[in-house]
Amino acid sequence: MTQRWTLVIHGGSGSMARGRLSADEDAAGRAGLHAALVAGGAILSAGGGAIDAVEAAVRVLEDDPHFNAGRGSVYTADGAIECDAAIMAGDTLAAGAVAGVTATRNPVSLARAVMERSPHVLLSAAGADAFSRDQGLEQAPPDWFATAERRRQLDEMLARPDGGFDQGMKYGTVGAVAVDGAGHVAAATSTGGLTAKRWGRIGDSPLIGAGTYADDRAAAISCTGSGEYFIRLGVAHEICARVRLAGETIEDAADALIAELGDRGGRGGVIVVAPDGSGGWAFNTPGMYRGMMSHDAAPEVAIYGDE
Ligand code: ASP
Repeated sequence: MTQRWTLVIHGGSGSMARGRLSADEDAAGRAGLHAALVAGGAILSAGGGAIDAVEAAVRVLEDDPHFNAGRGSVYTADGAIECDAAIMAGDTLAAGAVAGVTATRNPVSLARAVMERSPHVLLSAAGADAFSRDQGLEQAPPDWFATAERRRQLDEMLARPDGGFDQGMKYGTVGAVAVDGAGHVAAATSTGGLTAKRWGRIGDSPLIGAGTYADDRAAAISCTGSGEYFIRLGVAHEICARVRLAGETIEDAADALIAELGDRGGRGGVIVVAPDGSGGWAFNTPGMYRGMMSHDAAPEVAIYGDE
């Protein structure tokens, strides 16, 4: 009998309305999403675990310079790259996360190392970088993460008279949620954060319950968008709580949180899967890089809100 599984991924939400991306940007985004689905789907179709699938999918997107995670991360206001990532297993509620890391090629794998090889959930900055070296994770020089396009985006933002940050709202964080053949869910998120963020700023992505959460009794969630709003609402955990305690469907719970986020001035989106194999997304931006695949559905990717 075929094992049932579902994988949903995102590559960030934002102002990508139809016509605002070049044909090359559009094609590169879709190719990256497709490759991530194939990597995670191969694990799930072979009977592997959701936690392995979400890590594998996110690693592909971290290595792809078109997305704001790992290679291709955005710059802080003072021109540095500081990555955040988290991973969580819905069967045990085991979780690991890192914030402000600078030298690990795949921050999601460092988050997994925190989960599996330390007694902690969240390590930050120099301590997390040191843990990465101690654990033998692959290190990468600053040049690996740096891209000319992100530098241009920072320069453009710093040149604005109104200051502020990420007014362009092209987020680009990556994430994956999956349910495996055993019915276990997992979630992972990885990001460079927001362009021109203040040195030391930590977003929602590595905060368990805000940007990332997984619970076999409810759902697995990964978020993208204006992190400060996701943190205030505890978006990922609240979606799970609504499903578990109020009996809402994942669609209704995700829609409710995105509606409240919007009412309060936040922008972004979420991807969701439930242990029953259902999956989907909700977002209030013009577009969100996203994709879905399951045991009986080939990879499908989308960018714009109208597809
Ligand atoms: N949510 C991320 C953050 O605030 C940004 C993003 O989704 O692109 O750090």
